[in-house]
Amino acid sequence: MKKQLLPVIMTLAFVTTGCRQTSEFAITDLHVHLKGNFTIEDAIRKSEAENIQYGIAVNCGLGFPVHNDSQIDSFLVIMNDYPQFYVGMQAEGREWVDLFSKESIEKFDYVFTDAMTFTDEKGRRNRIWLPEETFIDNEEEFMDYLVKSLITILNTEPVDIYVNATFLPEQMADRYDHFWTEKRMNEVINALRSNNIALEINNRYEIPSADFIKRAKKAGVRFTVGTNNADENFSGAKYALYMIKECNLTEGDFWLPVKKERR
Ligand SMILES: [Zn+2]
Repeated sequence: MKKQLLPVIMTLAFVTTGCRQTSEFAITDLHVHLKGNFTIEDAIRKSEAENIQYGIAVNCGLGFPVHNDSQIDSFLVIMNDYPQFYVGMQAEGREWVDLFSKESIEKFDYVFTDAMTFTDEKGRRNRIWLPEETFIDNEEEFMDYLVKSLITILNTEPVDIYVNATFLPEQMADRYDHFWTEKRMNEVINALRSNNIALEINNRYEIPSADFIKRAKKAGVRFTVGTNNADENFSGAKYALYMIKECNLTEGDFWLPVKKERR
């Protein structure tokens, strides 16, 4: 229901206020990819036009173009010419921890990951945004295993942000509130808090829910804004702006990296 309702609410807000949604404070989208036809020059233009700061992130891991230390250096050499952007590492799969040296990982301004890739108890490597690579024998057991994998990731992998947070596979996504029970939400929020990991509010998938965000805020978890664009067709951080109002988030509720000197 959440997914269908949001556009209606936002359209109403648009009509009644007569202006576009804005925030009291500067917005930084830390999950922007140079994908599809979206180039670094486009990023400069769009960031300025929409008054949103960007962190440009590169996917690093098994099966991705960046899968060793020297490829990280090649990417960072390009990004050195664009000091207006933060530079982020999207750590992919669970193998990334062994693929890259600590020194190379630390060259990025920040590191994030999600729980969308994991190997299940039967040894099947799930990539849960792809229906053909998602293995659900029993939905509740799948959910338990997903949360267990996520907690292990948060407790063991050296990341700053948990992104695409609370993402569910297509066949379960329409029952988000059913699967994200209070117990499961609390487990994830406790792991975020104890490991000092920020929670991404994702514009593309419109997750996590307002309920999840309010609970995380109450527990002292900090947030980031992210889009995870697949191409050039994205704009405005609408879901994050809506959640900022809905959950009364202030500038102090958000986490930002520190830009590193790379030259
Ligand atoms: Zn991404």
